Amino acid sequence: MSENMKPGSMERYRVPPHTQVQLSQWDPRDGSAFPGKKQDAKALFRDLNTRLETLQELLYAENKHKLLIVLQGMDTAGKDGVIRHVFEGVNPQGVKVASFKVPTAQELAHDYLWRVHRHTPGRGEIVIFNRSHYEDVLVVRVHELAPPEVWGRRYEHINAFEKLLTDEGSTILKFYLHIDKAAQKNRLQARLDEPLKRWKFNRGDLKERKLWPDYLAAYEGVLSRTSTEAAPWYIVPANRKWYRNLVIATVVVETLEGLAMSYPDPEAALDDVVIV
Ligand code: ADP
Repeated sequence: MSENMKPGSMERYRVPPHTQVQLSQWDPRDGSAFPGKKQDAKALFRDLNTRLETLQELLYAENKHKLLIVLQGMDTAGKDGVIRHVFEGVNPQGVKVASFKVPTAQELAHDYLWRVHRHTPGRGEIVIFNRSHYEDVLVVRVHELAPPEVWGRRYEHINAFEKLLTDEGSTILKFYLHIDKAAQKNRLQARLDEPLKRWKFNRGDLKERKLWPDYLAAYEGVLSRTSTEAAPWYIVPANRKWYRNLVIATVVVETLEGLAMSYPDPEAALDDVVIV
């Protein structure tokens, strides 16, 4: 692969701790890490995908590290698409997806992290959170499902919870899929227009769309208060799906490569083994 086709550093999308984030200053169509076109990105993405397959196998074989990936974003931002494309071809035995929906009565009877903790990765595992504990400072804030003094305390809990996980050997990557309102309109319209996408259309999404500014404010709170050294947020330009996938795949692959993993030593003296 030629040098100029390599993506630039993804640092630009990482939110440094204690940054006051204003999403209006982050461009959902940014393409600065890879100025090429969609067509040029294909080979790059295939390469990342193959590397991810190998790294996941290594993670599983070494049975030491745990990787938690958190996906958040407005409706239609592409959480499902990321799961489908970035992890395509990866052995499903080593990757789990946990999707967090409206809590059940039993979940609501407990603290909000109760349902989350049991889905965190064990050694050798990658877990992807499709929505997460962050809903408890997003939808809960926007819809006033809890008073401000209740959700306001949660940023601190969440930082402490994630610190617990990283202290105990997890690596955490959090991605906010950043789209603009026009992109959401197009994607909702496509769900109406294309028969095979109609099943995804949900009238409730239109109600949520009206609350766009409230969600933006809630996301700005999250990104400003919970991006830490150990569990950083990345604001991923997500208007263009291929670019979004490229950014996330690059961060995941580079993070796993940074773990300097190795295969466990095989049993001794295997050269003498004869299989009859
Ligand atoms: P998705 O949009 O993730 O594909 P759904 O359409 O079933 O799946 O939406 C899940 C819904 O559950 C979202 O509206 C989300 O805001 C809501 N939800 C998730 N966690 C919570 C929570 N802790 N409290 C209230 N609602 C939640």
